[in-house]
Amino acid sequence: MKLVFRVSDDQRLIFVPTAVEQMIAFRQRSWWQSEAGGVLLGRHLLDSNDLVVDEVTTPQNSDRRGRFSFFRSKKHGKIAQARWLEEASTLAYLGLWHTHPEAYPTPSGVDLKDWEQALSKDTFEGKQLFFPIVGIEKIRVWSLSRDGAFFELKEEVRNGKDTGKSNHSGSD
Ligand SMILES: [Zn+2]
Repeated sequence: MKLVFRVSDDQRLIFVPTAVEQMIAFRQRSWWQSEAGGVLLGRHLLDSNDLVVDEVTTPQNSDRRGRFSFFRSKKHGKIAQARWLEEASTLAYLGLWHTHPEAYPTPSGVDLKDWEQALSKDTFEGKQLFFPIVGIEKIRVWSLSRDGAFFELKEEVRNGKDTGKSNHSGSD
């Protein structure tokens, strides 16, 4: 299933099903599962302001993974670079994801520092990077801009309907 988040009135951040599946495969549903994470790779669409996350990098042996911590190794940057070359420079670096052992995740102080560092040190197009945290129940996404603006993205209701009911039984 794809996930769609609202960035602004005229911009959405869309995760294709493959990217969502790659991330939720690492959901910390059991006490022995460590945090996981990686980088978001995708596209700036040409016919709209929307952004699409096509794939993510997944945990590498060189990462340091704990129950409540995740330190991304340089390997993710190398994989991203290699994928960028393979895709004829069309894949863009859009942000960083990681998991939390919480139902509804919230960023820690370490996360905020990590995200600020990504903003100041990493090379990227556009004015912001996106930071999903994959909780056990929910994926929440935050945006941090070059100008320091920080906010959580709102998830779009599926099928464009907001009936307040959750008896959604269709395929998606
Ligand atoms: Zn975290």
